[in-house]
Amino acid sequence: MIAEIILFPMIDTHAHLDFPQYDADRDDIIKSGFENGLEAVINIGTDMESSRKSIELAEKYEHIYAAVGIHPHDSKAVSKDYLNRLKEMASNKKVVAIGEIGLDYYRDHSPRDIQRKVFAEQLELAKELRLPAVIHIRESLDDSFELIRKSGVRKGVLHSFPGNANQCRIGIELGFLISFAGPLTYPKSNRPDAATALPLSKILTETDSPYLTPQAFRGRRNQPEYVRYVIEKLAEIFSPYTFDDIERITSANARLLFGLPGGQKGTIVYKIRRSLYINLTNRCSCGCYFCPRTAAKQEYVAGHDLRLTGEPTVAQVLEAVKRETDFDEVVFCGLGEPTIRLKEMLEIAGALKTEGHRVRLNTNGHGSLINRIDLPLKLTGLIDRVSVSLNAHNADTYNRICRPDKGPAAYNGMLEFIEGCLKAGLETVVSVVDLPEVDIEACRGIAAEMGAEFRLRKYSRGDG
Ligand code: SF4
Ligand SMILES: [Zn+2]
Repeated sequence: MIAEIILFPMIDTHAHLDFPQYDADRDDIIKSGFENGLEAVINIGTDMESSRKSIELAEKYEHIYAAVGIHPHDSKAVSKDYLNRLKEMASNKKVVAIGEIGLDYYRDHSPRDIQRKVFAEQLELAKELRLPAVIHIRESLDDSFELIRKSGVRKGVLHSFPGNANQCRIGIELGFLISFAGPLTYPKSNRPDAATALPLSKILTETDSPYLTPQAFRGRRNQPEYVRYVIEKLAEIFSPYTFDDIERITSANARLLFGLPGGQKGTIVYKIRRSLYINLTNRCSCGCYFCPRTAAKQEYVAGHDLRLTGEPTVAQVLEAVKRETDFDEVVFCGLGEPTIRLKEMLEIAGALKTEGHRVRLNTNGHGSLINRIDLPLKLTGLIDRVSVSLNAHNADTYNRICRPDKGPAAYNGMLEFIEGCLKAGLETVVSVVDLPEVDIEACRGIAAEMGAEFRLRKYSRGDG
């Protein structure tokens, strides 16, 4: 039940370790990377030869993966059967993407019409093979987006993307993640402004080694372990998220996109910023359409895989909490409704209070309905702060969004719970996710009328 621990979670999603710059010390650079915090590297092909060499590296090293493809610079030199040859290479199980492909109108090493043709053909290949596309865009935004749109490819990454926040958003709407490299760390870079506007669940990190060396080593050859500086910069941009948060979230994003193994499974206790969360159950009395729990595919919450393989015991939770340091509060939250396991929750809360911890409960507010008791009365002395998901300005909207088991009684039951918490003297926060069908101002009004704090959560962030 206790999760498998991954010690080295940084992932460089874009490197060219096959390039001649590493001929003298390739193995040393790779070894050093894995000794200094890398979990995985994706080596990216730029032509037939480098795609072949990427596979060779991936076969030699367990944690190196390959992408195969023709870079726009090399598109003028493709052979007649290049697509078949790429397809054959992509059948290797260490090949996780088609790339790098795209358009480069800055250097124009290949005529633009040929670049467009080869890009479109490789997008088709990515679609046929259901592999993500690793895309290079330089001074070619409109044409690139148009070709991606036409292709129907909706899975991939815009690598070291130079676009502004709005252009990044278009990329995300097309289904792509945005990857940041060394330029994010340059003093005059405008990339931090673009990054700030993005949901963390859509960000990847890379080095583009041997190029784009981060500021700390600028002017020298880059190497995969320097992805650390990109993560560090993102942590600065997204503060109070920490280096560990960013590393974990971006690595989880990379694993999901490229289908890489690893990660911590069945997490019982997890940290985001300075809060420690307890994942008590995956059961819930709601089926909110925006919840990762109801998503068909694997999803993470701030980089944590919260799908439990079994519900943890009280002892397991308390042991897991004991192993953690450096947090300001403990929160019952997780991927499910904690009050479904009320007995265990109260026992854990009691033990935590004895140890002097501050305790918060994040809940859908159905606890009284679920347990057929007046729950707020039971919480005094055990829970300091309660955060209740109001989620809608009326019962109809609530039922559409949250699809509660308790049917029409759920919305009013939740409102009564909030009132009960306030009466019981608990710090009470009412939260709403900024979904388009929700009247946020009306929700704010409901909270104000009851005398509760109000918190708006961003749906698009996808980071808990
Ligand atoms: S109440 Fe929370 S855990 Fe339950 S389905 Fe909704 S978002 Fe998910
Ligand atoms: Zn590259």
